[in-house]
Amino acid sequence: MRLDPAFPEPSAAASPVPAPVIAATAPESTPGPAPDSQRTRAKAVALLSGGLDSMLAVRIVARLGLDVTALTFMTHFGCSAGIEGSSCGHDPTKIAAEGNFKVKLCHLGQEYIDMVRKPKHGHGKNMNPCVDCRIMMLGYAKDYAEAIGASFLFTGEVLGQRPMSQRLDAFRIVDREVGMEGRILRPLSAKLLKPTIPEEEGLIDREKLYAIHGRTRKAQMELAAEFGIKEFPTPAGGCLLTDPRFSEKLRDLFAHADKVKGKDIHLLKIGRHFRLSEDWKLVVGRDEGENTLLEQYAEDGDYWLEAIDHPGAVALGRGRPGENGLELAARIVLRYGKAPKDAPARVLVRLLGGEGASILSVGAAEEAALEPLRV
Ligand code: SF4
Repeated sequence: MRLDPAFPEPSAAASPVPAPVIAATAPESTPGPAPDSQRTRAKAVALLSGGLDSMLAVRIVARLGLDVTALTFMTHFGCSAGIEGSSCGHDPTKIAAEGNFKVKLCHLGQEYIDMVRKPKHGHGKNMNPCVDCRIMMLGYAKDYAEAIGASFLFTGEVLGQRPMSQRLDAFRIVDREVGMEGRILRPLSAKLLKPTIPEEEGLIDREKLYAIHGRTRKAQMELAAEFGIKEFPTPAGGCLLTDPRFSEKLRDLFAHADKVKGKDIHLLKIGRHFRLSEDWKLVVGRDEGENTLLEQYAEDGDYWLEAIDHPGAVALGRGRPGENGLELAARIVLRYGKAPKDAPARVLVRLLGGEGASILSVGAAEEAALEPLRV
């Protein structure tokens, strides 16, 4: 994990009212507050996606007086493309400032991509490896908790809300594999689950936790109103890995590349993708913005194709084109340019990092011929 210096530093939010103090250790047999001199604020570490559920969980635990640090994990599969209203675009530092807790942004890079390729607990309906994803994030949260002396972890998970990771058996698997059995609290559904160690030790008052279950959001809306939370993302299905179209492209990429890097993942988020052979793939930009991004993602050894007579259409070819691969690619480029469909036109082809360029004069591809090639 990288606590990324490129991201904003943690924001310690000021609270208008000093937070109550909670015992850091199990209370003595006689309940009741310990003298001030013996009390310290217990620390807890949260996972904060920016969605309403995790916002509520953090607010619930912070309200109980714990010293909360929330970790927001970022991956190459963030939701900026294609999933409207997802939580990923939201700035957690603002939420932290409103909610009396600290936040750290953590970037999961290559290790996350490698996990997505082959998750131990499999994929969900699409390429989402939710159980392994939770295990990885909570694993890092555990390390962080140990480093700062926090007593437990907590999440905004709601029992029965998501089919893959928010089930009782999935919670058990995750807790066990993270090595935190009994030390991962889920405040929104806690009363439906076995008491955790922080509840048993008196760090958390179980009575102040909730018994929310399932997909309905009514209870969360009421809680949001109680906390005065007015801005939150609409519930979305999850990260990009839950998107069927993106998942198809990712499957194709994993099937044809031994090593997949962050840049390869970003390339999947733009353009029209065509699998022309086992060794040859084409990505055609859809507008000027995408054409610029294509240039940024291009690498030595890729082919760059550009319509000459009717400029505008460009494409990136990756792999080995074989005998007719460049010609087919050029025909596809013309299909998406302004060239007349019934006359040949020229396409400039360059091998990036190589010498010289060639010009192919071809006709635009027929739409029907493209369908089977589309990823
Ligand atoms: S939806 Fe995406 S981010 Fe959320 S648990 Fe699943 S894989 Fe992880």
